[in-house]
Amino acid sequence: MRRPVFALTVAAAWLTACSSAPTTRELAQDAAAAMGGLEALQAVETLTMSGGTGTRTRLGQTVHVGDEENTAELTDVVEIVDLAGGRASMHYMIDNAGFMQDRHEILTTRGGSPVGIEIIPPRPTIATSPSGLFSWGTQNHPEFLLRRNVVSIVLETAQSGSEGPAEEREMVGRMYQYGTTQTSWGEEIELYFDPETQLLAAYGALDTESMLGDQEALYMLSDYRAAGDVMLPHAVTITKGGRPYSSVEFASIAVNDPAAQAEFEIPETVSAQADEAIAAGEYSPITLIDVAPGVYFAQAYSHNSLVVEFPTFLAVVEAAYTEAQSTTLGRVLGERFPDKPIRYAAVTHHHYDHSGGVRGMAALGADILVADGHAPEMQMVLDAPHTNPPDSLARARTAGADVGSIETYAGMHVISEGDQRLELHAVSGSPHVDPVVLAYVPGPGVLFQSDLFFPGTGGGGPAAEHLLQSVRDLGLNVRTNVGGHGDVAPFAELEKAAAGD
Ligand SMILES: [Zn+2]
Ligand SMILES: [Zn+2]
Repeated sequence: MRRPVFALTVAAAWLTACSSAPTTRELAQDAAAAMGGLEALQAVETLTMSGGTGTRTRLGQTVHVGDEENTAELTDVVEIVDLAGGRASMHYMIDNAGFMQDRHEILTTRGGSPVGIEIIPPRPTIATSPSGLFSWGTQNHPEFLLRRNVVSIVLETAQSGSEGPAEEREMVGRMYQYGTTQTSWGEEIELYFDPETQLLAAYGALDTESMLGDQEALYMLSDYRAAGDVMLPHAVTITKGGRPYSSVEFASIAVNDPAAQAEFEIPETVSAQADEAIAAGEYSPITLIDVAPGVYFAQAYSHNSLVVEFPTFLAVVEAAYTEAQSTTLGRVLGERFPDKPIRYAAVTHHHYDHSGGVRGMAALGADILVADGHAPEMQMVLDAPHTNPPDSLARARTAGADVGSIETYAGMHVISEGDQRLELHAVSGSPHVDPVVLAYVPGPGVLFQSDLFFPGTGGGGPAAEHLLQSVRDLGLNVRTNVGGHGDVAPFAELEKAAAGD
C-alpha cells in the first residue's frame, strides 16, 4: 500500500533538484522515505537489537607487542539504544582465543546525570562515571551507539543536512551517492547512499577510542529488514583506521519495546555508588588497603594496582582499566598523601585492560615506566590524538599542564629514595605476555604481578609456574603476593599452586 507513495516522494526529490545533482539533505530524505518515512523514524525512541553474532578485533591482548591481533567471536549480542533518553547498553559474550566473558556495559542516567553500570559475572556489579566503562563489544563504549546509529544520522541529515550537491563515489568496488554533513552535535559525517534502494549504505566519522585515539571509522550497513514500522539494517560492519574492528548481524530489532526501559534501571546494590559517581564527576570504585609500611593495595573491582610510598613521592604499579580508575586513584592518594605527587606509574604489560589508565596517570603528571618490549604500544597509546571528545590527557595537554611522559628501561629498573625501594623486573618467556614486568618491594618482600597468578584463589597453571620460576631465578625473597587480579596472599600459596597441590 505504501510503496507507491515512497516512489512519488523519491521522484519529487529528484525533480526539485532539476538536472543538477541532489543535495546530501535530499538523499537523506529519500533514505528516510525508503526506511518508512520521517514520521515513522521520528517515532523511534528505543531500539532493541537482539541475537547478534559476529566478530571484534583490536582488543589489545597480543602476547608480544606487534603480533597480529586475534579476532574474537561475539555471540548473544544485545544492544539497546534509548535515543530519547540518551542511554545505551551492550550485552554480549566474547570469546577471545578461549578467554570467555559475559560482559554488560550500560550507560544510563539518574536525575539527568550520566552513570555507567558494569555487570561482568563473577565480578561485583559496579556503578562508575561514564569514563569508567570499558568495552570489548561492537564498540569501545556504549555511548557510541547513540551517535553512531542509522536512525539518528538519517533523521539529522534529512532535517538539517548539507544543501551541497552530492557526488558519485566508489566504496569497496561499488558506486554510491556521497555527501557530507555537519550534525547538530558537532560532528562531520560522510554518507554513502545506495543509488538503487536509496538506503544509507554506509557512513564515516571520526571515532575517538580510549586507547587507539582518533580513528577514521567506516560503518557499513546491510541486511535492511522491517522492524516495526521502519526498515533498519540488521548487519553493521565497522572498520577503524582502515582495519577491521567489529562486524555483527542481529537476528531481530524491536522498536519501542517497553522492556527496554528496565535495562537502564540502576541496580539497588549499586544505587549509593551511582550517587557517589555522579557527585565525584569521575569515579570508579577503589579501596586503599595497607599491605606493609609504605606499601598499599589499591583494590578496584577487577583490575588492581600497587602503590609504593617514598619519602617525597608515590609510585603506582599498574594504571589499570580506565581513565576513571586513574582519576579516582589519584584522588584517593591525594587525600591520603596530600604532599606526595604520583611521580611514576609502571606498566606490567601492554594489554589494554591493564594499561587503560595510562593516559589518565600521565594526565596527573606521572611518568610512565615501560619495559622496552612494551614501549612501541605504550608510546602509540600516549601519543594518539584524542579529539572527539578529548580525554583527560588531551585536555591537560591543551591546558599546558605538566603531564607525564614515557620512560623506557631494559631488563630491570629501580626506584629508590630513603629506605624505600621498588624494583621492576621485565622477564621473558611467560605464556601470557612476553615480556611481563614483576614489581618487587624488597623490604617487606612484596610482589605485584598481573594475569600470571590470582592471589587468594589458589589456582595454578603454566603462567603461575613461570612466575614462580622467575621469582626464584631473580632471587627475590617474596613473602606476600599482591595481584593485579585477586587479592593479597602469602607467597606460599603460589608455591603450593605451582606444585599442583
Ligand atoms: Zn594480560
Ligand atoms: Zn587481566
